[in-house]
Amino acid sequence: MLTCELRKEAWFTRTFYAKWGATTLGHGVFFNDGRDGGSILVHELGHVQQFEAHMLMSLIQGICLFAIFALAGSTTTGLWAGLGCWTLGFLWMLVPSWLQSWLARGDVYRDSFHERACYAIEEMWQQTLDEKWLPPGHRISTSIKDK
Ligand SMILES: [Zn+2]
Repeated sequence: MLTCELRKEAWFTRTFYAKWGATTLGHGVFFNDGRDGGSILVHELGHVQQFEAHMLMSLIQGICLFAIFALAGSTTTGLWAGLGCWTLGFLWMLVPSWLQSWLARGDVYRDSFHERACYAIEEMWQQTLDEKWLPPGHRISTSIKDK
C-alpha cells in the first residue's frame, strides 16, 4: 500500500478536498493534511481490502471470459475482453453500490454498502483499538493509534 499526505496549502486541499479525510484508489491512499490518524487509516484499509477482493473476483471473471472467447476461436478478442473485465473490476463494486443507495433514496456516496462497511469498521476500531478490525496482515503503530 502506498500512502501520501496532501499539502494543506495546496489549492485542491484548501477547496474541493477540505472536508475529506482521505481517498483510496486501489492500493494508494491520499490523506488530507494531518488526517492520517488511526481511525481514518483503518477506514481506508477497509477500502483497500474491498479493492483487492473485487479485483481478484474480476480477474477470475476475466480469465473465464478469455477462456470462453478462446474456445470459440477468438483469442485476441478474449484477451482484450478479459483484460477489460479485470482492469475495470473495481467498478463492479462501486457502481452497483452507488446505484443501490440511490434507489433506496439514501446518500449515493455515504449510504453505499462499501462505504457503510468501512464506517462500521472505523467505529469498532475507535471503540476497541483492537487490531482484529484491521484487514489480515496489517498493523498500526502505537503512535498512529493515538491520533
Ligand atoms: Zn470510505
